[in-house]
Amino acid sequence: MRLDRIGVDESVAAVFPPGRLVDRLGDATDESGVDVTAVDGSPEGMADCDAVVTLEHHEAYLDLSWVHSIQAGVDRFPRDRLREAGVALTNSTGIHGDAVGETVAGFVLALARRIHEYAASQTANEWNRPDWDEAWTVAGERACVIGLGGLGRGIVGRLTGLGLDVDGVRRDPLPEPGVDRVYPTGDLREAVGDARFVVLAVPLTDATRGLVGRDELAAMDDDAYLINVARGGVVDQSALVAALRDDEIAGAALDVFETEPLPADSPLWDFEDVIVSPHCAAYTRDYYRHVATVLEESVRRVGDGEDPVNRVV
Ligand code: NAD
Repeated sequence: MRLDRIGVDESVAAVFPPGRLVDRLGDATDESGVDVTAVDGSPEGMADCDAVVTLEHHEAYLDLSWVHSIQAGVDRFPRDRLREAGVALTNSTGIHGDAVGETVAGFVLALARRIHEYAASQTANEWNRPDWDEAWTVAGERACVIGLGGLGRGIVGRLTGLGLDVDGVRRDPLPEPGVDRVYPTGDLREAVGDARFVVLAVPLTDATRGLVGRDELAAMDDDAYLINVARGGVVDQSALVAALRDDEIAGAALDVFETEPLPADSPLWDFEDVIVSPHCAAYTRDYYRHVATVLEESVRRVGDGEDPVNRVV
């Protein structure tokens, strides 16, 4: 792969200022002779680029050698068309375990310690204490983490640190440090059965679309919470709304949704024990630095005639 110029697409502005990555990566790749520049996805802007770093897909990227997603998920990209066009697609898997792990720990603590309720009361200047039996502590509770990749491992580390016992689910049920029992995906309903928190950390693929539906929600305890930091499509959202409405589960913390932004008339906004966050579980002011580190290594590898890291197409 020839690599003279890398574009940083303006769509990354949803996560960090593009100029930060242009400067950081430009400094790091200076010696290798690779130029880094801001682009806007237009064919004219891309004309001199061999590669792009982006949040979103644009048609002009089918003419490049390499597209790098600043997210771990690549469900925004037309993988088959990129493959046919001979374009390499890489992702940022591996950089989100700390940030998302801490966000999930925050959700777990908020739901048990009722912090989301105090924050809601504060907006109305109201001094509302919980009932005597509403608040509880998480040590000794069980979580089930579905997907034990970069995200899942970060979540396991934070939850075991809080004293939770953790089970896991993945396609290949190999043992995982910190995880008591690893179930294969086919045993998902059994795996979630005794968990107080079920945490989703799988990519959205044909195999995981609708992975958690009516039957999986019914298999959860009625005092259990669903935490989704994966992708909205992994959960059947209408089945989730029904399970919350019928008190089949206690609540949820949701960072991702079938439609984003979550429409204003979604019933998910209004459940007392549902925390809604705007797909920002991985946000950190260091995000661009972490992406730059992955890209530096890729540029080095491409210079050595190898594949860039985290190649998915
Ligand atoms: P990863 O590739 O490191 O790990 C994914 C894990 O899921 C792997 O262990 C894989 O074996 C497992 N998996 C895949 N299909 C499965 C199935 N059918 N059943 C069980 N396990 C399965 O990726 P990651 O960095 O851990 O990220 C995972 C996903 O989380 C991403 O694809 C992305 O969609 C999402 N994500 C969301 C945010 C956010 O801000 N909310 C941030 C980062 C990643």
